Amino acid sequence: MGNFEEKLIRAVIEKRNRLGLSIRALSAQVGISFSTLARLERAAGLPDNNSKIRLLEWLGDDAQDLGLDFERAAFVHFRALKNVQSGTVQALLKAADCLKDEFGNDDHDADASGSLIGEEPYPELSKDQLEEIAGNFRRDLDIGAEDPLDSLRVSVEGVRVVKLTDSECFDARTMRKLRHEAFSEWSAMSVPLDRVMTRWVVLLNDCHTVERQRVTLLEEYWHILMGHKLTKVAKLSEAYGRTYDQAEEHDAYYLASASLLPRKAVRDSVSKGCSAADIAKCFGTSPELVEYRIKRLGLWREHIGKKVALAKR
Ligand SMILES: [Zn+2]
Repeated sequence: MGNFEEKLIRAVIEKRNRLGLSIRALSAQVGISFSTLARLERAAGLPDNNSKIRLLEWLGDDAQDLGLDFERAAFVHFRALKNVQSGTVQALLKAADCLKDEFGNDDHDADASGSLIGEEPYPELSKDQLEEIAGNFRRDLDIGAEDPLDSLRVSVEGVRVVKLTDSECFDARTMRKLRHEAFSEWSAMSVPLDRVMTRWVVLLNDCHTVERQRVTLLEEYWHILMGHKLTKVAKLSEAYGRTYDQAEEHDAYYLASASLLPRKAVRDSVSKGCSAADIAKCFGTSPELVEYRIKRLGLWREHIGKKVALAKR
């Protein structure tokens, strides 16, 4: 952990000195306060995610030369296992480049400075708010309160979904990796096509079951629809990239599950004693997602039928 930050700060100091900039001048350039920068240079603290991104952007090519390989991975979100192999990450990054070429990447046109990074922290949403958001989404899709949602048929303005096996732009090696050797390691990748993140392409691993694809795609959609930003710097198999933060991951997954499994229908099914497998069948999801939903709705005890009793005096 410390290694990356140390390297980063050392590179910043080196470049600042090379350019003959004062800390104050750098502060004005990168939008990090003077006192924070001074503290970071004294190694009296670690940079937060926003500072890291600002400094990495300021370093530009210097960051890459130092092996702080960040830009290549910078703007993609993987929905992948924690133990994803580095070859898989490389294949996904290659795929991201192909998709950007094919669908038009405006990354470089816009003035990049600052437009990406919101200063305001991600707002905390209550469970009721999330339920309402998912309910409105279902209502806008014009489906009944108890109906299953086939999210693979949902389209979102500005978002193009590419199924892996339909795609023709990947070279044979990348395809073989993503489709055969490593198909179980990743489920989707979202690639923004512009800096302000209004146009996206989502690569969906359609070698997985449709039940899994439904929740995967919805989670990607919700990240986009909620305005989540790829601002957290994370290490994924030797490559540094941006990802969403934990609160955003939680909300996107919660919203995906709530969109597929409406609260009232799940509650009614649980009180009727339906099994998770039965509910899953009705809604076209996996039983695991149903169990997650039941737990999140606080219905687990009812679901498993655990009786409780108070000792008689
Ligand atoms: Zn996610």
